Amino acid sequence: MGRHRRDAGSGVGRVGPALRHLGDRRKSRPQGLIWRSVMAYDETNVFARILKGEIPCRKVHEDEHILAFHDINPQAPVHVLVIPKGAYTDWDDFAQRASEAEIARFIRGVAHVGRLLGVDEPGYRVMSNKGVNGGQEVPHLHVHLFAGRKLGRMVPAESV
Ligand code: 5GP
Repeated sequence: MGRHRRDAGSGVGRVGPALRHLGDRRKSRPQGLIWRSVMAYDETNVFARILKGEIPCRKVHEDEHILAFHDINPQAPVHVLVIPKGAYTDWDDFAQRASEAEIARFIRGVAHVGRLLGVDEPGYRVMSNKGVNGGQEVPHLHVHLFAGRKLGRMVPAESV
């Protein structure tokens, strides 16, 4: 079954200096929730390589905690990806392991990017795919920010 994340460590220290600032997140885990082991973070995934500067991107915004860049295969007039700099595989991993401060910074960061892009009005869609059924291709947490036209249904009609 591969390594369990907590056996393997956070992976943060091994994905480069930009990702080391997050410290020991174990102290801030919310209590009373169900914890499941998740797959170890793949340090060679394409977004980890973008964060390390090994692969270029069309940057929209970067600060200490997040990076936002244009999707290479846009599905809307504006299609930007926002990622945390910490080594999290997906939304659930982030919810389980990130500190309250990291989660707040990420959510606020996504909204900040929406305003930077000038799409907060008339609006945009934020979406995060998780796992096989979610259609996730890149195993580093990211949200898609779509804008620039009316975006229609949330999922294809035939999928209900
Ligand atoms: P997912 O399906 O994992 O939610 O979305 C992954 C997204 O990453 C896709 O929309 C895909 O077009 C985008 N993507 C994959 N590789 C690259 C890349 O090298 N650069 C950029 N900018 N986007 C990428």
